Formats: sequence, structure tokens, C-alpha cells
Amino acid sequence: MSMTSPMATDVKTRAELALNDEFLRKAVRFTTERLRNGKRSASEELPHWEAWRDRAREIRLHTIAHLDYYLNLFVENARANGVHIHFADNSAEAVDISLKIAARKQAKSAVKSKSMVTEELHLNEAFAQAGIEAVETDLGEYIIQLAGEGPSHIVIPAIHKNRYQIAELLSKEAGEPLAPDTTVLAGFVRKKLREKFLEADIGITGCNFAIAETGSMVLFENEGNARMVSTVPKTQITFMGMERIIPSWEDLEVMATLLPRSATGQKLTMYMSGITGPRREQDMDGPDEMHIIIVDNGRSLQLGDPEFQELLNCIRCGACLNACPVYRHIGGHAYGGTYSGPIGAVLTPALNGNVEEWNDIASASSLCGACYEACPVKIPLHDMLVFLRRRKVEQGRGDKLEAAGMKGFAAIMANSKRFSAAIRAAQVGQKVVVRNGEITTKLGPLKGWNSYRTLPAIAKRTFRQRWEAGEIAAQSAVKEMDPGIRERMEGIMQQRKKRGGDSS
Ligand code: SF4
Repeated sequence: MSMTSPMATDVKTRAELALNDEFLRKAVRFTTERLRNGKRSASEELPHWEAWRDRAREIRLHTIAHLDYYLNLFVENARANGVHIHFADNSAEAVDISLKIAARKQAKSAVKSKSMVTEELHLNEAFAQAGIEAVETDLGEYIIQLAGEGPSHIVIPAIHKNRYQIAELLSKEAGEPLAPDTTVLAGFVRKKLREKFLEADIGITGCNFAIAETGSMVLFENEGNARMVSTVPKTQITFMGMERIIPSWEDLEVMATLLPRSATGQKLTMYMSGITGPRREQDMDGPDEMHIIIVDNGRSLQLGDPEFQELLNCIRCGACLNACPVYRHIGGHAYGGTYSGPIGAVLTPALNGNVEEWNDIASASSLCGACYEACPVKIPLHDMLVFLRRRKVEQGRGDKLEAAGMKGFAAIMANSKRFSAAIRAAQVGQKVVVRNGEITTKLGPLKGWNSYRTLPAIAKRTFRQRWEAGEIAAQSAVKEMDPGIRERMEGIMQQRKKRGGDSS
């Protein structure tokens, strides 16, 4: 897998690589923009969007607070439906359980539908090492499997590739040049995968939601491949994060209203499959044997943690990625883990329980709060990011230069005389680096900023200086204000004149 290991580079280096990749930036910007607009229209069309979000949050909070109860209920009901249930504490155990099932079935090949939890477990690599071919059947997943990469978006795994790059990859697989045309490329993949579906011994799926009251699992998808994966092969293995539970089908209505709208702006995905056990005698199709592997892999570390428990509420819609100004510039691989964007920046350290290894990805955020606004279950990701940064500093792992800079900044901002003196000094000092009204130097701490944008020079006369001098521009700005605000501003200006321009 070409996905960069967090140990090999830091987030800044990975982000720099992404920022220098014009194809990636264009592709990510184009698709996230489309998804964001779709979500905006879908949420505006649905009456009482905020009430739906509140209800979804309540359901998730309630379920996670009683996770042991609902998990037991789900397991009891699923077993009664004839499903084999397994529990895996970590990724090695989950992989081992699935390989044992495959070995018992003497499986040579498996088809997979899209599943983030199996990405987390690096299941494809483990199957390949055991001599079993595991083929991704979601178009995006198939593309990144051929490219030897991990997903760069929770919902659109190949978001960073354009159709020319995809045509190149698929042409290699076809052994002949394929036109960079969506219909041609999708047609080739459809034909190729149809053979794989028919040959496969095992079908592997993830699980969007597990319904406790009936022991059923629910899959949302657009391509119909998950339905093929869960009906054609004789044995089905479902990997399910232990937090995927919701109490009832009634609760699914809320999730089904929010998940597709938040993810892609669709009212409903093309296919929504509810699966309650293996094939029964009267059923036309379905697997003869069905296994569900319930995966912990770091999730229980979040249970009872006052800062991070709400991460378990996530329904993996990807809306926070599309809303994040940082993600929209650098894409997913720069985050270094399976999950990217704001949710990845918090979830990856939380799942790994090893903050040090991942301590730099919380910095990949502007803390604007757009992720919270976009999240259908209102997870306060921006607060969690601040907490991670604070913990890093408190543990003495922060940047010493940054800490000294922040102390100096706080001392200046806390006192208006110091602030004015600092501005005057900067107005004089900047003269050596200002060109055409902009500071363009890439020396020292300005390198990061000025490599990708320009920093305007400090004005010769600041707003404050002009305001205190009672200049016309400031007064006419006041005239255009709302009458209430203008009255207050004029009062302040008069008081200042009386005090003789005191700036404190
Ligand atoms: S944190 Fe919220 S917005 Fe982001 S993927 Fe999870 S549910 Fe979706």
C-alpha cells in the first residue's frame, strides 16, 4: 500500500506533497464542492433539518450509553436468526477469525463491498498473504486497490483521481487502452467484476447499521455490488465496528434520512439492504452460512472517556471532510491513517491509543467549526481537536518555539499599549521584506504561510491610528452603520475625544 505511514513522514511533509499535486487538488476540490452543494440542497429541502439532527444525536447518545445492553440484544437475536457471531478485540484477532473461516471453506477468492473497518484491519493484504484473492467491488475501492492505495475519503475512496488517471489504471488491467470515458470505464469494471462475483467463495461486507431488536444488519450503497456480495457467494462474512448498533428499525428511519443526504446529497441511496440471517429454505438466494465479526480495535478506549466517547456516534457519512477547508486542499492521504479529514484527525489517535505517534494530525485544522456544522449527529470535533492540541502541550510535546511565540503574543494582545508599540515596530521592521504591498519572504516562520499564499503588509496607518485621529473614512463608515450601532460608536468616539485619544 502506498499510503504514507505516520512514522515515515509528518503531516506537514505529506500535506506539502499533496499541495504540490495539481491533479489531486483539482479532483478533490471538484468532488467535495459537488458533495457539499448536494448536501446543502438536500438539507434545505427537508423540513426541520435541525430537529432531525437533534433526534439522530439523541439516538446515538442513548445507544452508546447503553451499548452493552443493545450489543447483547443484537447478538442474541442474530444468533437466533442462524448467524455465527464472533468478537475480535483487535485487528489481528479479526483477521485471524476471518482467515480461519476461509480456510475451513477452502476458499480461493472473495469479493468485498466497501467497508472502512476492513480498511482499518488491512484485510486485503492479509488475505493476499494467505493466498486468497480479495477483490474490491465498489468502483472507487476497486480503483484504489489497483493503484495499491488506501481510501482518501470515507465515502468516495478514489476522490483524488481524475478520469485520465483512472483510465490509465484500468487500461493496464484490461491489457488494452480504454478511453477516459465514464461509460467505457464503468462498463469494463462491470464486466470484470461480474466474473469475480460468480467465482467467489466468500462475500465480505461491512455494516452501516446493526438493528438490535431483530439482529439484522443494514447496508447502504449505490452500485448494487454489496447486494451481489451478500447474495451470490455461499459464505458471507460481515465485519462490524462494535458501535454500529441502533436499537430499532424506527431509529433506522432517522439514520436513513440523514446519512445519504449528508454524504452525497441523495434522498436515499440506490440500494438499502436489510439482512436478517443466512438464506432460509424459501429464499431464492443468499449465503448458506453467515458470520458477523464484531470488532473493537480501540473503540472501547473511547467508552467512558469524557472527551472522546461521542466519536462512537459517528455514522461515517464523510460530510465533515467535504466541509473542512484543510481536507479540501490536501485530500485524505496527507492525514496518514485509514480515516481522514476532521473525523480522522481525532479518530485515528483515539483508536490507536497512541497519541505520540499521531500527535501532529490535530494541527491539520483551522478550528473553524465547519465540521460540527456539517455533522448529522453533531459531534463536536473542533472541541476534540483543541483538547488534543492542549494535551500535547501539557504533556510537554509541543513545539518550544511556538510556545514562546504564543506567550509573547498573549502578552502583547493583553495590553493595548504593548499592542500599539508592537504594531509601530512591525511597521518599521517590515520595510526590508515588503514588495508591492505584500510580505513575500519565505524565511523563518513565514515560510509555511508564504509558500502557498501572500501576506499583506501592515498598513502604513492602521485602522486604530486612523480611528483615533477621527479621520473622515472612519466617520463615514460609522454613518453607514445600523442606527443602534452607530449611536454606540459615536458615544465611544466622543468619550475618546474627551480623554484626549487615550488608547487604553
Ligand atoms: S463525524 Fe459526523 S460528519 Fe464526520 S463522518 Fe462522522 S457522522 Fe459524518
